[in-house]
Amino acid sequence: MQTTLAEFVKSREEKGELEAILRSCVHCGFCNATCPTYLLSGNELEGPRGRIYLLKQMLEGEPVGKATQQHLDHCLSCGACETTCPSGVNYGRLLDLGREMVDEQVPLSFFRQIIRGLMLGIFPYKRRFNGLLTFARVFRFCLPATLKNRVRPKKSVKPWPQRLHDRRVLVLPGCVQPALSPEIDVAAAHVLDKLGISLIAVDDSPCCGALNYHLSAHEKAKQLARNNIDVCWPYLEDGVEAIIMTSSGCGVMLKDYASLLQYESEYAEKARLFSNKVKDISEILVREDLAVFDGENKRIAFQSPCTLQHGLKLNGVVEGILQRCAYVLVPVRDGHLCCGSAGVYSLLQPAISAQLKHNKLGALQQQQPSLIATSNIGCLMHLQDAAELEVMHWLVLLDGE
Ligand code: SF4
Ligand code: SF4
Repeated sequence: MQTTLAEFVKSREEKGELEAILRSCVHCGFCNATCPTYLLSGNELEGPRGRIYLLKQMLEGEPVGKATQQHLDHCLSCGACETTCPSGVNYGRLLDLGREMVDEQVPLSFFRQIIRGLMLGIFPYKRRFNGLLTFARVFRFCLPATLKNRVRPKKSVKPWPQRLHDRRVLVLPGCVQPALSPEIDVAAAHVLDKLGISLIAVDDSPCCGALNYHLSAHEKAKQLARNNIDVCWPYLEDGVEAIIMTSSGCGVMLKDYASLLQYESEYAEKARLFSNKVKDISEILVREDLAVFDGENKRIAFQSPCTLQHGLKLNGVVEGILQRCAYVLVPVRDGHLCCGSAGVYSLLQPAISAQLKHNKLGALQQQQPSLIATSNIGCLMHLQDAAELEVMHWLVLLDGE
């Protein structure tokens, strides 16, 4: 696509990237076929091709308004369009960079500013989020039904395994998962322990930065990325095998540090090495002998999060592991479509999110499995508030809880 960037874009360090991405799109429209928001609305501007066109107009200096901002905000950043695109267009990077520029030109509504401020001021900070959750648990009885289902009573978790193995991997606990579902990383530690691998939790690591990045707070996201690299660096120098993630949403962000910090002379190389070490835990387990796990032919549905299948490109990996462990996976139609969770999207765009959740649960429950397994805390919380079946993390399932 012929592109002439505006002067304000030419002064940015990402100008070459932006131009290359815009030029790689040939406007074929194949991506619309797998875009959840296009499929719901039928509106070209609610699909990736339309959004790329809107971003191109903005980057070429045409005035942008609320309508453009809204079409971009409706995007789930699910990545289904990138999986479908035959030209390899890096839509996600274009959206993230472009949305920040649109937000600089079009002020957010007062309501959105308040919501955004609260999210950025609380969610990425473990103590603040813990405090909010404790408060919400105390007053759970007077919460609306949708929130009540998300604010579950605190679970007791078994202790972390004590054995020390020669093989060691790190886990970054993240910001909300330890408070909402501490059993997930404990299950990961036990699963790995059974395979002769020690899991070391880096408890002083901050949030991965995904929330800040996707809400156009890029500088803060970069700061969190640098902090994470700094706290993990001594372990990497000490020879840990990998940095594993038990939440595919955070995994995608950590993998993106190489791209996020590519223009920083002090961190670019470190970020590249760091991102190379980041693995979804399924990438470790898939290479191991899994005979110790027995699913006893339990029929389950697996919800493959967008971050796992489109972001990390690990479609079918967890499913294969579960099948090797004697679980029977029921077919799930439209498995490539987002469930509507998408980080904080369900809070910012409740109507679209609710429709996608309804569709996803219909597909997951259609074959009457005994439970739903997933690999991302956001999808888990989002689905469980309306599911008829139990929704759990696949590692908790594997660990036999
Ligand atoms: S993003 Fe890819 S699939 Fe979509 S219109 Fe552009 S080239 Fe075609
Ligand atoms: S990221 Fe998802 S919602 Fe956004 S344009 Fe691509 S397919 Fe559509």
